[in-house]
Amino acid sequence: MSKKLSREDCAALDAADPLAPFLARFRRPRDLLYFDGNSLGMLPWAASRRVVEALENEWGEGLIESWTEAGWIQLPQRVGAKIARLIGAEADEVIATDSTSINLFKLLAASLKLRPGRRVILTEAGNFPTDIYMAEGLDHLLGDVEVRLADDVAKAITEDVAVVSISHVDYRTSALSDMPALTEAAHAKGALILWDLCHSAGAIPVALGKADFAVGCGYKFLNGGPGAPAYVFVARRWHPLFTQPLAGWMGHAAPFEFEAHYRPSPGIKRALSGTPSVLAMTALDAALDLLIEADMPRIRAKAEAQMDLFARLVDERCADMGLELLTTREHGMRGSHLAYRHAEGYALTQALRARRVVPDFRAPDIIRFGFTPLTLAYVEIFDAVDRLAAIWREGLWQEPRFAQKAAVT
Ligand SMILES: *Cc1c(COP(=O)(O)O)cnc(C)c1O
Repeated sequence: MSKKLSREDCAALDAADPLAPFLARFRRPRDLLYFDGNSLGMLPWAASRRVVEALENEWGEGLIESWTEAGWIQLPQRVGAKIARLIGAEADEVIATDSTSINLFKLLAASLKLRPGRRVILTEAGNFPTDIYMAEGLDHLLGDVEVRLADDVAKAITEDVAVVSISHVDYRTSALSDMPALTEAAHAKGALILWDLCHSAGAIPVALGKADFAVGCGYKFLNGGPGAPAYVFVARRWHPLFTQPLAGWMGHAAPFEFEAHYRPSPGIKRALSGTPSVLAMTALDAALDLLIEADMPRIRAKAEAQMDLFARLVDERCADMGLELLTTREHGMRGSHLAYRHAEGYALTQALRARRVVPDFRAPDIIRFGFTPLTLAYVEIFDAVDRLAAIWREGLWQEPRFAQKAAVT
């Protein structure tokens, strides 16, 4: 191997980084090395200002008038149109609403309606739990649905599958699914496909192509804040046909006519249920501008470079630790986090947090390091690996306090 990388080498990468000016546009706690933007993105200063403005002027002064004067009523569509730019969709195919879990329920139900005679929801055995649970909940309600779990989804698509529900990036290993190939495989069997973009939108450029449906969340790579609104994508060809069971008044064709019966809005708005969380949505609205300005291909290029750097530094400085990289080193085949397996993964994660390095832990033995190029400098990667090596060398992770499981990992 060539000469070991130094901190100066990493500082030189920062000096040459076209995205470096974005670091100052986020609130960055002092001396905190944050590798968890894949679970909760950092706070953009613009989002902070925007929420205060919405709170004090729009709510505080404008009150009910703000629904029209401040444009609150259009927020779900306006935010949806911004998200559309990140995922290769048209502005009117995406709307911000509810949570990912709720939106999964809506679209899985919509899929069953669009494929009468087919009662199978096919998903991955290793999918994010809520994606599976929401399908099981739908079966509990309807009583005749089969929730089929497969290790290799592509091979399990049969003629009775109504919808293939799949994550674009595996939340554990960071493996990236082949979106065009799986979409085509589903369609070849007459099934619909629903993509979960929680770990890809805002991290990598997404091109939904011929996909039917998608969902994703606002608080991870989109930096919309804790519990930020999620979103729904419905391909335009389905707009006149899709129906969803959480048919609230905000999805009605004329909510302020207060009609006695439901009549769905003609477009994507029928994916809405009730009143949006306006304050939360203003934060997401402001945060999205940074991703759009930075441009997804540039973000992706830096993330690949940062993941390469991290993996190389771990190879050079932590070779004796027994860390096993589960994520591929191949560009274009992974999301924006690296997953390392270690028998003492939980204690190591806690010891890192005590040293102001924040990755996260996924049971039973995975440490995840998220790479969010707008909020992460190359020298921070050097410093994080340096602290990891020191924790191992000093045996800090063996302290009993690091074995206690916290409520949120
Ligand atoms: C984070 C995540 C979710 C979260 O769903 P919520 O309803 O926001 O709690 C769902 N699916 C995947 C794949 C995720 O990564």
